[in-house]
Amino acid sequence: MVDKSVKICSVRGCDKEAERTFPLKKVESAGLDLDEMSSRKASLCKEHYKEFKKLTKQERVLESIGR
Ligand SMILES: [Zn+2]
Repeated sequence: MVDKSVKICSVRGCDKEAERTFPLKKVESAGLDLDEMSSRKASLCKEHYKEFKKLTKQERVLESIGR
């Protein structure tokens, strides 16, 4: 809780306030299109967090598709 700056969602084209952060690799492998990142963590807004959760449930399926 030291960081006072508002984090913005890392998903490309989204500039909503981020609520949670996840390892960048995990979010990318879930299939979310992320903006250029300098950190190893991806921040997600409420909306994209929901999407991320949905996507990770299908992770095994997506793996075989190769995205
Ligand atoms: Zn977002």
